[in-house]
Amino acid sequence: MEIGFIGLGNMGAPMARRLIEAGHKLVVYDTRDNAAAPLVALGAQLASSPQDVADRVETVMASLPEPQIVAKVAVGEGGLLRGKRIKRFVDLSTTGARMAATIATGLAKRDIAQIDSPVSGGVAGAVKGTLAVMVSGPQADIDAVKDVLSVFGTVFVIGHKAGMAQTMKLANNFLSATAMAATSEAIVMGVKAGLDPSIMIEVINAGSGRNTASTGKFPNAIIPRTFNLGFATALMLKDVRLCVAEARALGVPDEVMNAVLGVWEQANSEIGGDKDFTTVIQPIEKRAGVIVGRDKP
Ligand code: NAD
Repeated sequence: MEIGFIGLGNMGAPMARRLIEAGHKLVVYDTRDNAAAPLVALGAQLASSPQDVADRVETVMASLPEPQIVAKVAVGEGGLLRGKRIKRFVDLSTTGARMAATIATGLAKRDIAQIDSPVSGGVAGAVKGTLAVMVSGPQADIDAVKDVLSVFGTVFVIGHKAGMAQTMKLANNFLSATAMAATSEAIVMGVKAGLDPSIMIEVINAGSGRNTASTGKFPNAIIPRTFNLGFATALMLKDVRLCVAEARALGVPDEVMNAVLGVWEQANSEIGGDKDFTTVIQPIEKRAGVIVGRDKP
């Protein structure tokens, strides 16, 4: 299939590469100089704008950082809306249900379908093709892209209303953000009491406290102090903020969400939004006066 791909960052680049390796013909675009070069070297064509991408292909995917950027690319000046060939927009970004619905309404004015398709599983999952791919949108358009999306991992059809897959993704990332925040506090507490963090992680993973932070993030990036899983704190904070907004809009309890949000706000302001999200532990370590892992204070 001919596919447009916009946003070639930590997630977009490996996903676009997998599409090329699966035999699809890609037209790519990113605002960052050189982001497209490795894909062009694999045979992708380079476009000059989102509209240029949408002039050339029927199916356009995007993996972009913020909801406002997705809106600009989709329905803003020079965006997909004006493209001559585009029939469907597959948004792999995390934008929240409300923004997804707004963009879907904007695109519908020119009979362009929107498929929400946020993903979970990190950069490692994007490289290996083991992501959870959450999909919502019109059935005919889902049918048109389902096989293509399976190149990224397991496809879950969540529903047919715009934004449903985004709500699913926010629920998932709230739990991932909570696991990171809660496990950081638990391990820092143990280290302050003199426990070995590696043994703590082993015990938790053999016991009932096991979670995605204890099985993945702590052994792979926090205890080794590499902080390099390829997901920025600002993007996790965006996801938790979107989740809180979604819960408020639906009128459901959000007490845990707000506590978790505070932990991510703290990491964003004290350590930096551009840092890897595994650094969320650092303000907690600072307050406790301990460091988890190989570097001892
Ligand atoms: P990233 O910042 O690494 O990549 C985003 C890319 O978009 C960059 O290459 C940037 O130059 C490009 N870009 C920005 N504005 C643009 C524009 N106007 N036009 C074209 N390109 C533009 O972000 P990422 O980590 O790859 O995340 C992308 C999306 O996937 C986000 O919505 C994020 O929440 C979600 N996500 C990320 C992960 C992860 O582990 N990194 C996992 C699941 C979902």
